[in-house]
Amino acid sequence: MTDLFDLTGRTALVTGSSRGIGLTLARGLATAGARVVLHGRDQATLDAAREDVLASSDVEVFTATFDVTDRDAVDSGVTRIESEFGDIDILVNNAGIQRRAPFTEFAVDDWNDLIATNLSSAFFVGQRVARGMVRRGSGKIVNIGSVQSQLGRPGIAAYAATKGGIAMLTKGMCADLGPSGVQVNALAPGYFATELTKALVDDAVFSEWVRTRTPAGRWGDTQDLVGTLVFLSSRASDFVNGQIVYVDGGMTAVV
Ligand code: NDP
Repeated sequence: MTDLFDLTGRTALVTGSSRGIGLTLARGLATAGARVVLHGRDQATLDAAREDVLASSDVEVFTATFDVTDRDAVDSGVTRIESEFGDIDILVNNAGIQRRAPFTEFAVDDWNDLIATNLSSAFFVGQRVARGMVRRGSGKIVNIGSVQSQLGRPGIAAYAATKGGIAMLTKGMCADLGPSGVQVNALAPGYFATELTKALVDDAVFSEWVRTRTPAGRWGDTQDLVGTLVFLSSRASDFVNGQIVYVDGGMTAVV
């Protein structure tokens, strides 16, 4: 039974794993036995993240710096991972940003940054990595979505659009890649305290709204996401494809 979730010998790339949700997810995959590639834009931050992962597991850890919004950088970054560390069996498209402003005042630069970082990135990295998976006839891709693909909230229409895009990109990728033995699912978190949500955590009224709006009665702890990611990355989910799994303490289940 436990073998179903064993990731020993698998190689995982988690984009945006220098901190926050991505770092916890990378640590979780390493604990399940996977060799992991930590990714971000700053080598010093990644070196510290590498020490963090190695403190709780003895797997091999590689680091890669590239901007996920730059297609050429993605291509050369993934090529370097494949040649220096090995083929990627598990891809977690996690890198993301947030921008907030009322819709009528939303800056076009912020719109473009959100689309590039949260959505085009999953297309660029997903397409580049999927080619190898298709050739080998197996692979697991997990796109990080959000409860915002289901909930309308003030000030974040553009962010919600990117996460709605992630939901449908996931289903489309499933349709194209499923016949080649590649499963593509989305893991959609509720509210988690990270750098991305710092302004919300610091807002006492909003913070309390999250607690009362969530049946679990609390914000998520990034560790809450690990079990679902390991499941979606392992043999245990071989017949699960194209699904959006909400890990949100029940937030999207209730009004
Ligand atoms: P953080 O801000 O803590 O981390 C974001 C990560 O993305 C960092 O590692 C950062 O790396 C990386 N990143 C951002 N832009 C780029 C880029 N252009 N190129 C490469 N890497 C980049 O955010 P979270 O951990 O909170 O968010 C992770 C994911 O989870 C995002 O997709 C987010 O939308 C999603 N999510 C988060 C929720 C939450 O409550 N926190 C809820 C629902 C979804 P660096 O800056 O070091 O280069």
